[in-house]
Amino acid sequence: MRFIPYGRQAIDEEDIRSVVEVLRSDRLTQGPKVAEFEEALAAYCGARYAVVFSSGTAALHGAYFAARVQPGSEVITSPITFAATANAALYLGAKPVFADIEPDTANIDVTRIENLINKRTRAIAPVHFAGQPCDMDEIHQIARRHGLYVIEDACHALGATYKGQRIGSLSDMTVFSFHPVKHIATGEGGAVLTDNPDFVHKLRMFREHGITRDAALPGSTNPETEPDPWYYEMQHLGYNYRLTDIQCALGISQLKKLDGFLERRREIARTYDRAFAEVPAIRPPAQKPDRESAYHIYVVQIDWKAIGRTRREVCALLRQNGIGTQVHYLPVYRHPYYRSLGYPAGLCPRAEAYYEAALTLPLFPAMTDEEVQWVIKAVGRLATGTR
Ligand SMILES: *Cc1c(COP(=O)(O)O)cnc(C)c1O
Repeated sequence: MRFIPYGRQAIDEEDIRSVVEVLRSDRLTQGPKVAEFEEALAAYCGARYAVVFSSGTAALHGAYFAARVQPGSEVITSPITFAATANAALYLGAKPVFADIEPDTANIDVTRIENLINKRTRAIAPVHFAGQPCDMDEIHQIARRHGLYVIEDACHALGATYKGQRIGSLSDMTVFSFHPVKHIATGEGGAVLTDNPDFVHKLRMFREHGITRDAALPGSTNPETEPDPWYYEMQHLGYNYRLTDIQCALGISQLKKLDGFLERRREIARTYDRAFAEVPAIRPPAQKPDRESAYHIYVVQIDWKAIGRTRREVCALLRQNGIGTQVHYLPVYRHPYYRSLGYPAGLCPRAEAYYEAALTLPLFPAMTDEEVQWVIKAVGRLATGTR
């Protein structure tokens, strides 16, 4: 059997053709595929607008910028996430503040948010861990009460639903990633979804050096009603965070297959759920009934003492059986860089306990039933002590 990684992309001939078509065209970047991908994403998620970026991280940076996160601001997020959720606040001179998680879903515990809010808090950035949406109604209530923006890090949750609504349609801004382990791939890539045209304007400027062709903005040196044909001006210190037409063409083609990908991810997750429910030392991920996960990853909690092996040993033994695993995540504030900023150990005890017991098993749409059963057998064997 081939080696089974914990996640990977699914690219077919149609995807390849759509990329080659762009390579033969006039525009490799800043062409028509960008708007086409943005429109398709917005339509899929039920949002008015999408603005694509060169990565999910760049999209987070743009979203926080549009929400006026700045030096002195604070952004409340979960410690069980990829570091980028917090890093993007640091890029803007702001401070990430970590609220502990619920132990069963590993999503932010909404009862821990309110006492972290102060005058400096600008936004709440919930992370839909593994693809399961957070308690969004409660988060929106808190945000409304305190006048905060909600920026969802939905990099795990493209295609997830919350109370019947697609993630991407619920908050001020929602961020996705199109890295190959995520639901659809563009190589690198990301997007911000929003209903707010002011955010769209800021996001586009931020993505393109802070440059605009809108001469009506304050400080313009070309305040004629009809700007000169060559006119452009820089209003902010932006970046080059563009996504190319090559990548957008791949994204458009991949998006057409997303529903099929999601169906397969959910099917595999249900198979794992059923199998691991019978293994006492393994706790499958808890799912809440009013929302549907997009299953970016499948993370189990394992009682290492009960199985008499360390995570390192289990990981190595699975690898010998051709099975790749990963650990999602070391709590962000435990990274050496964050420790150097002064975040103490023990800040979020539940997140730390979650991390210690976590193991991510392979889950991707192209996994065969045989591979799924192979993983179940190998993990089950290790977890019940049968050799
Ligand atoms: C993947 C990911 C990101 C960053 O996305 P990139 O496209 O890799 O920059 C941010 N947050 C979370 C939770 C992610 O999983």
